[in-house]
Amino acid sequence: MQNGDSVEILTNRSNHGPSRDWLNIVASGDTRNKIRAWFRRENREEHIRQGKEYLEVELKKLGYTPKDLLKGDRLITAAGSQSLQSKDDVFAAIGSGAVNAHGIIIKLVEMHKKYLAENKPPEVSEMLKEIRPTNKVRDRKDDCGVLVEGESGFVVRLAKCCNPIPGDEISGYVTRGRGVTVHRVDCPNILSDGEDVARMIGVSWAASSDLDYVVDIEVVCADRSGMFAELIAVPSEMQLNISSIHATPNKTNKTSTVILGIEVKNSGRVADLMNKLRMLKDVYSVSRPIRVT
Ligand SMILES: [Zn+2]
Repeated sequence: MQNGDSVEILTNRSNHGPSRDWLNIVASGDTRNKIRAWFRRENREEHIRQGKEYLEVELKKLGYTPKDLLKGDRLITAAGSQSLQSKDDVFAAIGSGAVNAHGIIIKLVEMHKKYLAENKPPEVSEMLKEIRPTNKVRDRKDDCGVLVEGESGFVVRLAKCCNPIPGDEISGYVTRGRGVTVHRVDCPNILSDGEDVARMIGVSWAASSDLDYVVDIEVVCADRSGMFAELIAVPSEMQLNISSIHATPNKTNKTSTVILGIEVKNSGRVADLMNKLRMLKDVYSVSRPIRVT
């Protein structure tokens, strides 16, 4: 065991490392120290992972994009401790329960709000003021379950072109008089016609939203008898309501483009539905359409 100890630890890293039981049977104090150091290092990595995950989940619950709030040195500043010098130090401290994560989250949110207040171009902040409702009583019909910069109550419109639903990654665009228009991040219409990047604004889905959304699914399939019934059977079997159906036959190639409007709470079952539709015979493509405006 004299010179075998380090070899033993290194080769075992690829598996699960040394077992804690070894501490009891390893005679050499030096080896014991090495095993203890291994556990400390391994725990730290685990704590960093746990702390980071916890922080991200909690910030998302509050409607924030973790990436925005953890910019630069903000996390280290928020932790405000001499002994926590890097982001990983703070994550590890949160993961191990050594610091109060709640206090750090509050500071991060405060710093983020301050940053936004100081860096928002004046025109956009004026527009946001206009579209902020004057009282707390809100019409449920106007609520589309989107938070703007982590706050509810803004007038928000879901863009028709890309039809975002909860679970989709989204981006907001401030429009004078019309509030914030929310697109899917991959929608090419967000910044068409030389629109202003400064008017883009952070939006997120409210965690507690229980609203119904209609998602459009575009199916290109053979224009044959029975096809329609087979298509409709798929959402029906999944107990999803169909709110609209539009079919356009393409005479030249004997195909049909069918748009199914399906009622959903979020994108969770949409991928499943689309996969099931793809598996049907004579279905050539299934997609969520984006209309270029
Ligand atoms: Zn769009």
